[in-house]
Amino acid sequence: MYDCIFCKIIKGELPCSKVYETNNVLAFLDIGPVNKGHTLVVPKKHFTNIFDIEQKDLDEVSNVVRKIAPAVKKAVNADGINVMSSNGEAAGQVVMHSHIHIIPRFKDDGLKLWPQGKYEDNEMNEYKKKIEAFLNE
Ligand code: AMP
Ligand code: ZN
Repeated sequence: MYDCIFCKIIKGELPCSKVYETNNVLAFLDIGPVNKGHTLVVPKKHFTNIFDIEQKDLDEVSNVVRKIAPAVKKAVNADGINVMSSNGEAAGQVVMHSHIHIIPRFKDDGLKLWPQGKYEDNEMNEYKKKIEAFLNE
């Protein structure tokens, strides 16, 4: 994909600190780590995010995440790992090439992820039904 920074990394036009690679997936260190060892796992084929990635590519990315997460955890002696992805600008996605973050976490790293809200009476049921309706489209 023209001008996509991750496609350029995949093609070898830009450098990266490669951690692991398969035919269809590349894993490399995030240049701006939340904590050191923060790794990105990307499909080699260009997809924007969860909304267009093909199931087989997502499966392969997921397999690599499963393989790498324990290695990252051990390598930096982390207490836990966040596996996350941002999908769409509103969700904080900056690089528009599908990717999963593997983020080492430490008991005392002081990071808080999500502020949590709450549902009013019966609202949970309404939202559950709205989602189910689109699953059957
Ligand atoms: P996101 O906000 O989910 O789109 O995250 C994009 C991530 O890509 C950020 O955490 C960046 O630090 C990372 N990033 C951007 N450019 C590079 C690069 N050249 N090499 C490695 N990581 C990068
Ligand atoms: Zn790309």
